[in-house]
Amino acid sequence: MVSESKGTSSFMTDFIQQRGGFAVIDGGFATELERHGADLNDPLWSAKCLISSPHLVRRVHLDYLDAGANIIATASYQATIQGFEAKGFSTEEGEALLRKSVEIACEAREIYYDRCTKDSWDYVEGGGSTRRPVLVAASVGSYGAYLADGSEYSGEYGDSVSLETLKDFHRRRVQILAKSGADIIAFETIPNKVEAKAYAELLEEEGIDIPAWFSFNSKDGINVVSGDSILECASIADSCKRVVAVGINCTAPRFIHGLVLSIRKVTDKPVIVYPNSGETYDAEIKQWVVSSKESSGVRDEDFVSYVGKWREAGASLFGGCCRTTPNTIREISKVLSNKSSQP
Ligand SMILES: [Zn+2]
Repeated sequence: MVSESKGTSSFMTDFIQQRGGFAVIDGGFATELERHGADLNDPLWSAKCLISSPHLVRRVHLDYLDAGANIIATASYQATIQGFEAKGFSTEEGEALLRKSVEIACEAREIYYDRCTKDSWDYVEGGGSTRRPVLVAASVGSYGAYLADGSEYSGEYGDSVSLETLKDFHRRRVQILAKSGADIIAFETIPNKVEAKAYAELLEEEGIDIPAWFSFNSKDGINVVSGDSILECASIADSCKRVVAVGINCTAPRFIHGLVLSIRKVTDKPVIVYPNSGETYDAEIKQWVVSSKESSGVRDEDFVSYVGKWREAGASLFGGCCRTTPNTIREISKVLSNKSSQP
């Protein structure tokens, strides 16, 4: 007899519960690829490495697993079939590259599991020799990420691009990633309401049978970057039954606390937070710059000092986005493990 299907609704809550009430996501990908020598000056950004240096992609995944991540996101944020086609690839080749992003992450997980078995090693002290379960999240960037002009940090196209256009733009990629062996789809850096709606409808229409998370970005701690209400955006995620976590990424750490409280008002789904380092992306020069309001980007210790507050506010999945490193993730893992072992 086939055991009763639990559906997707409890997927993430079960995972978090098994981990002791929280889970750790990986950190910035592009930053790490560059540190290992990759040149990302390209509209495909980190997706370029799927073609030119898959070994570096695997290496970065492993660095994050070693740092304590329970969830690793694939290098497909800026990988779109349309983007690959613009580079002269065929549709089939573009689709194969999307699958490859998931294969590389799964390979890294296998290497990590093998190592754990050999060394009977677990990052969490006192956690025994059980290997830490790892989820592979297939990353999907917004339409703005494909435009490669920083649009995902303004979300302005929400007024000029229709819901149907956005659905058609994302459809094939979502279909491919859903069948790629990934555990979950991560819709990241969502800048506006219309794109969240497009994802929600797409998940339903296409009968996508793996869960997803929706993560928005904000530049004022009140609304998402386009100015759309975070409450409305999070409500869209809440009403989509395939969505198992809702949250905020690529946003300055100082804004996260208030946004978590807002999201909590409209959903009981697990809240996910993976802020950036607090620097700002300048689309003109295509570089991260120190915001005028802060004398420097947030140092890892400072970043980590926020984590307890975010947890108190109701978040249960924590990681980092742009400009964070395995060191950030290691610190987050440490802080969370210490906290949960206290009475
Ligand atoms: Zn980011």
